Amino acid sequence: MLLTIPRQLKNFIGGDFSEPLSGKFIDVINPATGEVITQTPESDEKDIDAAVKTAQKAFLSWSITPTEMRFTILNKIASLIDKNLNFLAETETNDNGKPFWLTKKVDIPRASSNFRFFATGIMHFSNESHGMEDKAINYTLRQPLGVVGCISPWNLPLYLFTWKIAPALAAGNCVIAKPSEITPVTAYLLGQICKEAGLPDGVLNIVHGTGTNCGEAIVKHPEIKAISFTGSTRAGAQIASVAAPMFKKLSLELGGKNPNIIFADCDWEKMMKTTIQSSFSNQGEICLCGSRILIENSIYEKFKKEFTERTKALSIGDPLDENINQGAIVSKMHFDKILNCIEIAKQEGGKILCGGNAINIKGRCEKGLFIEPTIIEGLGPQCKTNVEEIFGPVVTLQSFASEGDALELANAGNYGLAATIWTQDISKANRVAAKIDSGIIWVNCWLLRDLRTPFGGMKNSGVGREGGWEALRFFTEAKNICVEF
Ligand code: NAD
Repeated sequence: MLLTIPRQLKNFIGGDFSEPLSGKFIDVINPATGEVITQTPESDEKDIDAAVKTAQKAFLSWSITPTEMRFTILNKIASLIDKNLNFLAETETNDNGKPFWLTKKVDIPRASSNFRFFATGIMHFSNESHGMEDKAINYTLRQPLGVVGCISPWNLPLYLFTWKIAPALAAGNCVIAKPSEITPVTAYLLGQICKEAGLPDGVLNIVHGTGTNCGEAIVKHPEIKAISFTGSTRAGAQIASVAAPMFKKLSLELGGKNPNIIFADCDWEKMMKTTIQSSFSNQGEICLCGSRILIENSIYEKFKKEFTERTKALSIGDPLDENINQGAIVSKMHFDKILNCIEIAKQEGGKILCGGNAINIKGRCEKGLFIEPTIIEGLGPQCKTNVEEIFGPVVTLQSFASEGDALELANAGNYGLAATIWTQDISKANRVAAKIDSGIIWVNCWLLRDLRTPFGGMKNSGVGREGGWEALRFFTEAKNICVEF
């Protein structure tokens, strides 16, 4: 099978590739070169309505398709993703600006793992039963919801798109899925892969467009029973305000402003190496990146010196170059936002220890959007820079005197997605972890993922959990049946 990217992408509805009914398209730009890669449909409620109708029809048979058959088809999708690893990875890099070595090592392999994981998961997902001594037995059926909506962001395009679609399909739902309009190409290619894998028509419908036209139409559609959304807190709040009064099930994975707590007794080399990664991987465009680095007083100066030196040594450049650490920022709008945040940090009195500027790269990438990895110190926990998500290669340093201080700083602000703790005192690590208001905590590591664990945030970082049984429970309705003896 040969995957191809046409001059204009199409929606994948009912197993066919079709133009948006509006006839409107948006340019898709390679942020590393400024070139237009292709155009993506600007779909609206009419396309969503057509997709829902075909999905409702497909649901009648997909919901009763034997689990083993769903397992086989989802595994086939995973294998086809693996088979096309290089092409998908290069496409993702051109669309998003992230390094090719990263898309090849992480993004695309994770997309196939998502399908494989939930294909296997559904084979082991069982109904519970509760006996009432000699009176009765209850058993709880977990049935698919019907047609569900999955909306994903641009930072990990195919990785997060499939993280939602795979459990929804495994559980027997039919899906209306919308990737980010900024990075739609691998999602389009997933349609070609699903067709080749034999996924029945209408089971997965991929509709492209902006949040305002296409995303909102998914959220508002009365026949879409649940929304699984990953993106900004702003959009998440808007989605909740529309979906909650319609009593739709909602899973919202939103922004973060994650603390890295570094105690003096940490494993220094491991902490340094990992903190560079947790700060600047994927240009800092990972919701789990640690953007507030909290350092114990006694090692603050030592940390600052070495961390700044190592950051200055990072190479930024052509994402296709295997030797670079950091690629391009995803879009002009996001590039401007990050530079503006750095300006605000300066106005707030922050001191730039390194970076702070856009960079010009010679040759193929001279029109690309690149920003130096940036470290800022001297700002308190209430400053905008330490409160609002920047979602770029920008971190701040703050010092703390005691465990209590560290916790106060870590829990400041409205986000609660992830945190990292560095110490070799395991009792301290457990004590601090239990008191941090975050859904995900890493001790002496970062981004070590087991797909069976609950994934999601507290406070303004979201509602609900993805991963493992949590995802399969979200995409099913529990129905209890009580039988009296
Ligand atoms: P975004 O909210 O602008 O867009 C995300 C998706 O939602 C896109 O597909 C967009 O078209 C759509 N959308 C936007 N407004 C909508 C609306 N009103 N109704 C329906 N759909 C709408 O976010 P983004 O800029 O693409 O992504 C960056 C954000 O995502 C950051 O805040 C980041 O922290 C967050 N994120 C969170 C996680 C997590 O797991 N918690 C993972 C990755 C990214």
